[in-house]
Amino acid sequence: MPELPEVETVRRSLEAAVHGARLARIEVRDRGFRHPVPASELAELAGGRIAALRRRGKVLLIDVEHATLEPRTVIVHLGMSGRMLFGAPGDPWATHEHVRFESDERIVRFVDPRRFGSVELTLTRDVERHDRVSYLGPEPLGAEFDGDYLHRITRKRRVAIRNFLLDGHNVAGVGNIYANESCFQAGVRPGRAAGRLSRDESERLAASVKRVLAQAIADGGSTLRDGGYTDSAGNAGWFQTRMSVYDRNGQPCRRCEAPIRHRVLGQRSAFFCPTCQR
Ligand SMILES: [Zn+2]
Repeated sequence: MPELPEVETVRRSLEAAVHGARLARIEVRDRGFRHPVPASELAELAGGRIAALRRRGKVLLIDVEHATLEPRTVIVHLGMSGRMLFGAPGDPWATHEHVRFESDERIVRFVDPRRFGSVELTLTRDVERHDRVSYLGPEPLGAEFDGDYLHRITRKRRVAIRNFLLDGHNVAGVGNIYANESCFQAGVRPGRAAGRLSRDESERLAASVKRVLAQAIADGGSTLRDGGYTDSAGNAGWFQTRMSVYDRNGQPCRRCEAPIRHRVLGQRSAFFCPTCQR
């Protein structure tokens, strides 16, 4: 499932290839998503120019400037299995390709086998009010998210700290892989009540979240055995080779060799080292 580092990697690969490109055509083959794809409104963007590629949490924002329209933003959520893949104009439609953005030189396909993703459109000035964006807390790599913030907003909260990090209202886009890895780096068990984290632990955890996400972005994200994720050029990520706990149930801790443990918290897997994490 694409999390923040995967979406950031996709954003960067798109930015390098289509920033400033003229949109010749946007075609929608399949509108039947949880949030229906606005096919005719997207088609109106033809002739516009891709002015910026931004990201908020796990949401990709494609700003389009157009001679006769107020600036608009395509809001792409990759869901569980969504990808934005390059191709050439005239290529046949791929399996599970639902939306196609075509410039003079290339196409970008929105491909999503499991169909939990979405492609939506809003006025650029309304992005912050859109349902996919408006509820989001601070960016984990931004200055607003730090130990002070984490300590302050976790007070009196009984929710497990791993689940707290997964809730986009608290911090945007962290995701399960990186929340588990961050808890390990900080020496905090994922099941600990958020409100019981000390000041020092909050500092360590906020710093760990930033460090883990930055490393994962540098690695081009994580491509797990389920195989789905790649950037737009089809490159897999390799952060999975660095994972300390995620998906390592029963394997020895890389620090102390104790077997990594697994438990289910809020219907999502949590992984931790019973000796390195308290
Ligand atoms: Zn350990």
